[in-house]
This record gives sequence, C-alpha cells and structure tokens, in this order.
Amino acid sequence: MGDGYAVLAAAKLARGVIFMPTFHLTEEVIRQMADSASFQRGNTYYAGGAVQNPVSVGDEIHARCEGSSYQPYEVRVKLGPNGITDYSCTCPRGDFCKHIVAVCLARLHDPQSFRERPPSEQVLAGFSREQLVNLVKRMLDCEPRLFSLLEVAEAANKGAVDEEAWG
Ligand SMILES: [Zn+2]
Repeated sequence: MGDGYAVLAAAKLARGVIFMPTFHLTEEVIRQMADSASFQRGNTYYAGGAVQNPVSVGDEIHARCEGSSYQPYEVRVKLGPNGITDYSCTCPRGDFCKHIVAVCLARLHDPQSFRERPPSEQVLAGFSREQLVNLVKRMLDCEPRLFSLLEVAEAANKGAVDEEAWG
C-alpha cells in the first residue's frame, strides 16, 4: 500500500519495540481540520523543509515550523484513536494554522523523520532531586511566565502542610 507509517509500525513491532497504536493520520483528516488556504500554505511549508526537529512522544507529536517570524513556531499535535484530539502552535493566528498542517503532513509522509522520545514523566523520574531543582530553575529562567505555576504549586504545598499541622 506504500504506507510508510504502517511499514514503520510493523518494523517496530518486529524489533520488539513497544509501539503505541495511534490514530491513522490521513491527508483527508488534515484537510478537514484546516481551511483550504492554510492547507495549501502548510503543504508548501512542508515541501520546502520548514518542519524541524520533529519528535514523537507517545500519542503526541512536536516540531518546530519556520514561518514569517525570526523564531520558528512550536507546534504540538495530539493524536487520539478517533482523530486529532488537541493541537497548538505558538504563532499568533491560532486555530488549525498552516504550521500545524505542515507538521501533520511531515508525520503523514515522512514518519521516520520523527525521533521517538519517552514521555517526559518517565525521563524526569530518573533524575535526582538536585537535577530536578536545577532543571526547573533553568526552565523558569527561560520562560518567566512559568513562575505562576511555581506559585500555584507552592500554595498547594503550603495548604497540605497546614492541613497536616491542624489535622
Ligand atoms: Zn501556527
């Protein structure tokens, strides 16, 4: 059938690699999610090699997609058994944009370009407390908006401690 994705899945099964069965992505599904202009532009982006560093983590795919901005946009798509269940792109347009189309087309036509990564929680579970503290610190330095998450966690933690003290 010339289906690269199915061939890849069969090869992984043959090698004994645990393969997460995901939704079978088709061009039809991508066309249904995007408007026709976005589909066309996304196709041009994909064909022009705009999709960079594609990664698959479980049922999610992540990649960067070059666009009109200096910085490439970050695209994330979640594939469920019944279709594309969630998606996001850091570009200002919102909705199912041409960058998401480009990344989905890369997954459809060039699945072997996606580097498989274990789920983040699995990687983090192997880190020491000190490594985790350093990593979170660097994440906060890179993305100060995440500081609010720290504050929420701090408040929740404090609440739990108070309950223990009074309970
Ligand atoms: Zn976008």
